[in-house]
Amino acid sequence: MAGLYACPTVINNVESMASVPSIVLNGTSWFAGLGTEKSKGYGIFSLSGHVTTPGQYEAPLGITLRELLDLAGGVRAGHRLKFWTPGGSSVPLLTDEHLDVPLDFESVMAAGSQLGTRALQIFDDTTCVVRAVLRWTEFYQHESCGKCTPCREGTYWMVRVLERLERGQGTDEDLDKLLDICDNILGRAFCALGDGATSPITSSIQYFRDEYIEHQKRGGCPFDPAASTLFDSSGSGHPLGGGR
Ligand code: SF4
Repeated sequence: MAGLYACPTVINNVESMASVPSIVLNGTSWFAGLGTEKSKGYGIFSLSGHVTTPGQYEAPLGITLRELLDLAGGVRAGHRLKFWTPGGSSVPLLTDEHLDVPLDFESVMAAGSQLGTRALQIFDDTTCVVRAVLRWTEFYQHESCGKCTPCREGTYWMVRVLERLERGQGTDEDLDKLLDICDNILGRAFCALGDGATSPITSSIQYFRDEYIEHQKRGGCPFDPAASTLFDSSGSGHPLGGGR
């Protein structure tokens, strides 16, 4: 194994450093014996959102969300899982169909997403996916440094279109427009922020197109904001509380 400039390399992040004592104590074979054939070892899975006990869970790669939720007391009482991110908002979201996908790099990729940061944001059935995606996209628009035209202009216009859709004033053409903007950002921006901004939009339309259309039919959002902690800014730990 070689690192930077083909030399041994220390990666100074908390997860890597936290792994060192157990590897020194138990040996590399022990560590490599955990996880899956290609994604070896264990890592930290960060569960946040509508989960009974949010927190950092250290587990072998290949564990499933269903198993992690068992460790974390399940989705908040009285509700069911609606959608979740395996690696933060910049990877395609997944749904309750994916509860048993092994959380290793290859399996999550095969399911259409990426393991990414292993920041698992959990959303229950009270959450409006259009609203959640709008909040994420507002974040990407804010964070766009403006260097590349597709990201700078694209994130601005995606927020405008999503605002219209969330208010129930959008059209079918708006959904096509969103996908077209995503197509013009993905692979055409300088850094990963541009690509990441497209993931929640394309995946939410893939899995929840009906919910976007329901907003149009009703002329507004069908969800009760009071039932969800999506808008909570009281420090509950929800990934979208307090501005993101
Ligand atoms: S893709 Fe990265 S470099 Fe380009 S405008 Fe967005 S944030 Fe800036």
